[in-house]
Amino acid sequence: MSNSPILLWFRRDLRLGDHAALTAAVKTGRPVIPVFIHDDLVAGLGAAPKMRLGLGVATFTETLAQIGSRLILRKGPALEVLRGLIAETGAGAVYWSRLYDPASKDRDIDVKAALIADGITAQSFQGHLLFEPWTVATKTGGYYKVYTPMWNTVRGRDVPDVLPTPTRLPAPARWPKSDNLASWRMGAAMRRGVEILTQHCTVGEAAARDRLDDFIDTRVQNYVRNRDLPALDGTSGLSENLTYGEISPGVCWHAGQRALLEGAGNAEVFLKELVWREFAYHLAHHTPRIINGNWKPDWDAFPWNTDERLAEVKAWKQGRTGIQFVDAAMREMYVTGTMHNRGRMIVASYLTKHLLTHWKVGLDWFADCLIDWDPCSNAMGWQWSAGSGPDATPYFRVFNPVTQLDKFDKDRTYVKRWIAETTKSQQQTALDYFAMIPETWHMAATDPYPDPVVPADVGRKRALAAYECRGF
Ligand code: FAD
Repeated sequence: MSNSPILLWFRRDLRLGDHAALTAAVKTGRPVIPVFIHDDLVAGLGAAPKMRLGLGVATFTETLAQIGSRLILRKGPALEVLRGLIAETGAGAVYWSRLYDPASKDRDIDVKAALIADGITAQSFQGHLLFEPWTVATKTGGYYKVYTPMWNTVRGRDVPDVLPTPTRLPAPARWPKSDNLASWRMGAAMRRGVEILTQHCTVGEAAARDRLDDFIDTRVQNYVRNRDLPALDGTSGLSENLTYGEISPGVCWHAGQRALLEGAGNAEVFLKELVWREFAYHLAHHTPRIINGNWKPDWDAFPWNTDERLAEVKAWKQGRTGIQFVDAAMREMYVTGTMHNRGRMIVASYLTKHLLTHWKVGLDWFADCLIDWDPCSNAMGWQWSAGSGPDATPYFRVFNPVTQLDKFDKDRTYVKRWIAETTKSQQQTALDYFAMIPETWHMAATDPYPDPVVPADVGRKRALAAYECRGF
């Protein structure tokens, strides 16, 4: 039993470095069998995140091969698959990195209990977060509902040193069979545009570390000034890698701390952003309702529009509201799978306030389109924007997407990059949009750019009247 293999169940931790579960498994000296399971949670992913996960799994398979190992792919309910592999390989233990979103937690709790009942060691490790949500508490022992006090609590905490990357994984005497990744058709729901979207992905651990190094070397010193300008490459771009665990938050944290020590004062704001991610998970752990329902229950009675067939909602999804900042950002997301944070705030405000449409409509669309889709950050971002969440923007703060554009994209570089109809010298990025969208949207780069479906000032007045009428 003591030399029986350990199944290393990889999920959103597709890396070798700074991986506590892997380090613990290697330390035992027992054979390690890396496994990835296509279960219901994978099946339920939106089109772009599923495609991106497929790329991540393919790259991680190669990474493992370079150190003499393999990634065993299996499809089915996680417990059933693990039990099957245990029977085939004689494994005596299953290790994994903890996840904290409600759906993953429910699954993992059940799997752990069942494996332990089977007499198998089932052990989970930290890895997806810097701070376990239950270790961060207010002075009275509660959880944080506001970001800044949480930041003040964790900013000086020790984060464990980065764990070394194993150079060899002990292999089992016989490898179990693996599914062929291509048979999973991870990009199938994308319909058109897989090749274009793929070009915008930075996949795998090595690429993520390079991206971090490049950010720290060349951009972090101007992060505060540039991070709000959507036309610039002013942020780290690491969200897609953090989502799939191709880089650990610990590696990012230590890099930020080093930059700060070496005099890059702006690095503190980068550290703060990493803690926004922690805050999202902290909230989801303590109040799982944030994922699916209004965090503030008074919003349950608000008469949001939920009809996605409404012309204005369709226009929002299709990037043709006639509001340039909104359309540019929505198209950026469709083509690249990511959207600048300023854009996310603007499009979310426009949907929930100007169009009085439920934030869940936007949340679901993002979940289908974002390669960095994260269940907790997405929910927090949407509820923050709508006003229904903790530490949210006040409901009466309605971003003006026109003045925001004047402030953050003065010379319209961002707009020209994404909206072909506004310029004679159309850029490839803007044209790519038309190559990717469904033909049923009947949009062409030669169309005239539309008038606003709801002008900024009209939408603002309408939203404020609706809030007043509901007694907000
Ligand atoms: P950087 O500025 O380089 O920040 C470094 C890291 O900090 C990011 O990679 C990210 O992990 C974290 N971070 C930064 N800002 C936030 C934030 N506001 N909330 C939580 N974490 C943050 N982020 C996602 O990763 N996935 C999502 O699905 C997602 N959905 C969002 C939806 C809405 C409506 C809004 C307003 C924000 C959403 N965000 C989401 C947060 C934020 O927009 C992205 O994390 C950020 O744009 C990623 O770019 P970056 O990696 O260059 O960030």
